[in-house]
Amino acid sequence: MTKTIDLHIHTTASDGTVSPAAVVRCAKELGLSAVAITDHDTVSGCAEAAAAGQELGLEVVPGVELSSRYGKTIHILGYFVRTNSPALTRVLSGVVAERDARNRKMAALMAADGIPIDYDQMCSRFGTSIGRPHFGEVLVELGRAESVQDAFDRYIEKGQPYYLPRRMISIERSVEVIREAGGVPVLAHPFQYKLEEPALRQLIEHCMDHGLLGLECRYSLYDEEQSQALLKLAREYGLVPTGGSDFHGSNKPHIAIGTGTGSLAVPAAWLEGLRAVATSTKKRS
Ligand SMILES: [Zn+2]
Ligand SMILES: [Zn+2]
Repeated sequence: MTKTIDLHIHTTASDGTVSPAAVVRCAKELGLSAVAITDHDTVSGCAEAAAAGQELGLEVVPGVELSSRYGKTIHILGYFVRTNSPALTRVLSGVVAERDARNRKMAALMAADGIPIDYDQMCSRFGTSIGRPHFGEVLVELGRAESVQDAFDRYIEKGQPYYLPRRMISIERSVEVIREAGGVPVLAHPFQYKLEEPALRQLIEHCMDHGLLGLECRYSLYDEEQSQALLKLAREYGLVPTGGSDFHGSNKPHIAIGTGTGSLAVPAAWLEGLRAVATSTKKRS
């Protein structure tokens, strides 16, 4: 049996429900040969995962997934980033500050309408990575919504009274800062943006102009035909293929580490390709 890996995993450091150490333990038990931790807009789970990996003898690749602005929201994965890079740290703390300001405004809007939301209390309860799902949870507890989904539908989804848009970093900056941190920028789940092929190619080419080096070709939601189409694009553009589940724990209960929705299998050889690109990038940077 060929060894497999999972290069797209979220933990409690962002919106996953499994801790970085537990993710690594689970991957080891499943027989994977490596994982990458790719939390949204943070690298704060990487150290714990790396320590667990060292203890268990499982390679853990430091990574990140940056929400980026390009008309719509596009996700850029970064692999082998130096997690203490000053440039990356600056960008990530900007994201935290922006999200915090947005959350405070949302809470203030609700409070002004008589919904007793205490944002400081939310901070001490949920930590630094608060997003709309946490607001949903609180709205349910306050008896204002039936479920988190209902809270989204009536309060915090785009178009609803307490929705505020996020100001994201530009896609150019995302790609560039990953390079500045010595990492390999990869376009995540390319079919999730619902772009026709010419527009998808335009996106890839635009990112490549700024330093994109890889394309996520295997993903939980993609069948073999879609994966082959992406591999063809990757070859054509000279991009390194990557793959992963996008595991989020019970926030996406249908997706498992390693196997995704059942048939995902990312060959361990792809990590060697990624590593080779990372090594030559670091030499140049
Ligand atoms: Zn994503
Ligand atoms: Zn993801």
